[in-house]
Amino acid sequence: MEILAVLKKEGRILAETMSPEETFTLGEALGREASAGQIFTLTGDLGVGKTVFTQGFAKGLGIVETVNSPTFTILQIYEEGRLPLYHFDVYRIGDVEEMDEIGYEDYFYGDGVCLIEWADLIEEILPEQLVRISVEKDPEKGFDYRRVEIDRRSLR
Ligand code: ADP
Ligand code: MG
Repeated sequence: MEILAVLKKEGRILAETMSPEETFTLGEALGREASAGQIFTLTGDLGVGKTVFTQGFAKGLGIVETVNSPTFTILQIYEEGRLPLYHFDVYRIGDVEEMDEIGYEDYFYGDGVCLIEWADLIEEILPEQLVRISVEKDPEKGFDYRRVEIDRRSLR
């Protein structure tokens, strides 16, 4: 996929999607290329498309089970794909100590892939090596427009 060729070269890419399906496809492409130990962070307002991206990402890893963001569960684990997927949604986290309680280090430094929605809320415990993804709307460009920035410059 062209997008990924650019990603590898520059370490940073700006993608514009015009529909949920396009954001899903972008996620799927990254999921297909993801490797063990990688951590992807997702930031952006409520309803911007972080979970849509995650659903595509999961499909790219070979996960067929439905992926969503249950309101009161910080971590969902999917083990049926090419690699385990640790899907965090920390939107409702009160304190980073809750991350200790679920033993987040086993996942951050484990053999699977982590994907963290609302990662900015737990910035203090994030490792340096991240693929940072931010999703934004632009009202001037239409209701379904999203600007997706993927920054993997911290990765070697
Ligand atoms: P978040 O997880 O960021 O809170 P969701 O992924 O749950 O957001 O929801 C995104 C919503 O925006 C969905 O209802 C989706 O259909 C809609 N949507 C519209 N355009 C897009 C787009 N380009 N990319 C992703 N989602 C979009
Ligand atoms: Mg979500």
